[in-house]
Amino acid sequence: MQMLFGHGTYRDERCVKASDVIVVGGGINGMMSACKLVQDGFQVTLVERGQCAREASWAGGGILIPLYPWRYADPIARLDALAAPQWTDLANMLASATGIDPQYTPHGIMHARVEDDQNARAWSARHNDMLTSLGSSQAHTCLGQLTTTSLEPAFWISGRGSIRTPRLGQALRQWLMDHPHATLVEHFEVTSLLSAGGRIQGVAGSQGRYLAPRVVMAGGPWTRELMARHVSLPITPVRGQMLLFRPERPLLRAVMLMNGFYLIPRQDHHILAGSTFENAGFDRTTTVEGYAQIHAKALEMLPALKDIEVTHHWAGLRPGSPGSVPFVGAVNDVEGLYVNAGHGGNGVVLSPATADLLCAHIKGTTPSVDPAPYTLPDSG
Ligand SMILES: Cc1cc2nc3c(=O)[nH]c(=O)nc-3n(C[C@H](O)[C@H](O)[C@H](O)COP(=O)(O)OP(=O)(O)OC[C@H]3O[C@@H](n4cnc5c(N)ncnc54)[C@H](O)[C@@H]3O)c2cc1C
Repeated sequence: MQMLFGHGTYRDERCVKASDVIVVGGGINGMMSACKLVQDGFQVTLVERGQCAREASWAGGGILIPLYPWRYADPIARLDALAAPQWTDLANMLASATGIDPQYTPHGIMHARVEDDQNARAWSARHNDMLTSLGSSQAHTCLGQLTTTSLEPAFWISGRGSIRTPRLGQALRQWLMDHPHATLVEHFEVTSLLSAGGRIQGVAGSQGRYLAPRVVMAGGPWTRELMARHVSLPITPVRGQMLLFRPERPLLRAVMLMNGFYLIPRQDHHILAGSTFENAGFDRTTTVEGYAQIHAKALEMLPALKDIEVTHHWAGLRPGSPGSVPFVGAVNDVEGLYVNAGHGGNGVVLSPATADLLCAHIKGTTPSVDPAPYTLPDSG
């Protein structure tokens, strides 16, 4: 392992490191890609301009189901089906290898007061009856009996739950730091891609360059700008604000979604409440309006939060894309250049699946899902 911090580290203009693959961006998707590529036998260098997992991959709630799964096109469900069976082993592997437990908790997920319940039922019938329709008293029991009175129409998803996103990021980062086939480079901003004769050669920044025959761009909402010279990717930032309530005893047993907002109970009994979907460019400051909106929705879902202190309020930038369908695949006119970005509000839950798809592209093997829906637009 080689880890390089700080701007002072690279005074030598020749600082050129060779590996099999360079991954640009140390969010969940860049790190998950790097992790799977290393497991597949590649020598990988991951380059992050700040510290890994500090952007959306720190801010995110960590619900492990696409929110309101029936509202997406089937390519999202296919990725979810590929990712879902991986979480138990992945979380256990990271916890035992790094000592950082990402607190994967399959406590179940409740969608309450669903407005489009007929669509939900029809979708569920096509997806192994994933949703169980519950009466109000059953729904209250699943959540811990302490919520608002009318929850119907309510749907329960068993075996799904959440992961503590910042801990997942820390664990992936530590795993890569410890692995002999991974090099983690933080505080290195990639400013250009190196290519010759239609082939990628590496990346460059003010501190030097890194060479590899393959480069994966996983820059979250910044991917559009990074790739602008090669391909036009409709990836835009979507701001989301979150609150943390700190009850001292458990108030909620499962993830609860209602009217587009949600509550996520953590193992320490604290409750995350989210979230807004705002078009604010790359501005990730929090707002009084965002706080008020989330707070009101949280109390509507769980009145017992009325007397509980909110200790944190933060915002992050989702990498929004049309239909929230991520772009995973090769750039047409530059051999060896790949993208894994644009996961919208589902970038944690889908991350193992899009990393698998990326690996299949790089290895030239048949992917577990049809790659067509995630293909990049033509260059030019
Ligand atoms: C409030 C909120 C709640 C959410 N809740 C959920 C949820 O419950 N479940 C779920 O699945 N998803 C959720 N998401 C979405 C999820 O967090 C994101 O989709 C996911 O974290 C995106 O990860 P990423 O690695 O693609 O991008 P990012 O986390 O944005 O990482 C991209 C990285 O690239 C780096 N970078 C950019 N440019 C350069 C450069 N030039 N050189 C080097 N590095 C560069 C950045 O510094 C950054 O670290 C939520 C998001 C938000 C904001």
